[in-house]
Amino acid sequence: MNPLAELARVSGVVGAGGAGFPTHVKLDAQVEYVVLNGAECEPLLQVDQELLISASPRLAAMLEEVRRALGAKEGRIAVKAKHQEAVAAAERAVAEYPALSVVPLGDFYPAGDEFVLVYETTGRLVPQGGIPLQVGVVVLNVETLWNLAEAKEGRPVTHKWVTVAGAVASPGTFRVPLGVSIAEMIALAGGPTVPDFAVLNGGPMMGKLVEKLSDPVTKTTKGLVVLPATSPVVQVRAKPLPAVLRQARAACCQCQECTDLCPRRLLGHELAPHKIMLAASYAGGPAAAPITAAFLCSECGVCDLYACPMGLSPRRVSQALKEELAHRGIKNPHRSAPAGPHPWRAYRRVPVTRLLPRLGLKPYERPAPVREAALTPHKVVLPLRQHVGVPAEPVVEVGDKVEAGQLVAEIPDGKLGSRLFASISGYVAERTPAALVLTREPQGRGGQR
Ligand code: SF4
Ligand code: SF4
Repeated sequence: MNPLAELARVSGVVGAGGAGFPTHVKLDAQVEYVVLNGAECEPLLQVDQELLISASPRLAAMLEEVRRALGAKEGRIAVKAKHQEAVAAAERAVAEYPALSVVPLGDFYPAGDEFVLVYETTGRLVPQGGIPLQVGVVVLNVETLWNLAEAKEGRPVTHKWVTVAGAVASPGTFRVPLGVSIAEMIALAGGPTVPDFAVLNGGPMMGKLVEKLSDPVTKTTKGLVVLPATSPVVQVRAKPLPAVLRQARAACCQCQECTDLCPRRLLGHELAPHKIMLAASYAGGPAAAPITAAFLCSECGVCDLYACPMGLSPRRVSQALKEELAHRGIKNPHRSAPAGPHPWRAYRRVPVTRLLPRLGLKPYERPAPVREAALTPHKVVLPLRQHVGVPAEPVVEVGDKVEAGQLVAEIPDGKLGSRLFASISGYVAERTPAALVLTREPQGRGGQR
């Protein structure tokens, strides 16, 4: 493992903009391109832009170091051209590094999807079901690189940048200790402005509905979007699967709009959501229709939140199919490289300017600048699995005193995972198979909160 990968491993760095893939595994490679993903394609989220504006020199220096460590000939910073301040900051910062450049992206969704981004920045097509490494590319999220820079200065991952947006009084982007609650984050943004609301963890397109406001911020919480419970963005997720399938059978007219606009299809993948709808609804549900092309679905939400004129959800059907296939032990057989992108891809990309009104999000398109997080959490909850791989193994016991930045859970020997560090100074109040709970005060001595 190269020294930079080792630094990422010991510091608990994982992909901060996606599923939380351990960065040390990604960096243990030799590639041709390192792409910094600052596309921030989810509407309303602003972490990447804010970091590029405020910390481009630091990010460029770190990107250059990663590029050298991975033997890459180029490092490219991908950022939407419309974010002019971020583009200008990045361009100034890369000026002193001949192997680094800025690639301005169009304002379409999902520009930040790794497969889409690799094509837009290098012209290479990642094989179906594959990873960018197969075409000589490593993609890093902006905050992931920022965390690497922190690690280099001796600080492991203990905090997270999070945008809180939508129906809140004062949208903002905050840096908070891992493990604070979603309720605390919404309070930081001035609280909800509608009485009956739902919260998405992530953006409006790919975020997941938050079940409990007591859930913690983790290494992958990039944004929290508060929306009225009646919002179509909420409704499409809240509908029970049997209702989704019933509606698919009753209302899918096989117009193929979902397939025509599917971003993976437009890259040449064998995914055809209209066929998935047909088979799953008429064959008696996902269990009877193991359509393996569902493995290729990125769950981007273009089909259900933008394309389908009938308000149906090929994404939900694909999700159900993937679960059924996994249950049956069936693996993705679609591994070939696409022959080429669809000839009309450039005209079928989804413009964000049309997406926002379609989702009813136009009123929430407001700045969410970086603000000081006026927060002194008395308790944080650290899930042992907030990354791809196996849960981390606690190395502390209930009652132990811990300092912020102290290792509290280790990667099990020989496994894929990530280390965890205390995000506040205090005491270990609980240790369960799923999480560690830290409190400022020792429990049982008047410190319970
Ligand atoms: S867009 Fe909607 S109605 Fe048309 S094929 Fe797809 S799921 Fe069916
Ligand atoms: S969610 Fe829909 S549009 Fe997106 S990749 Fe899956 S099938 Fe295609």
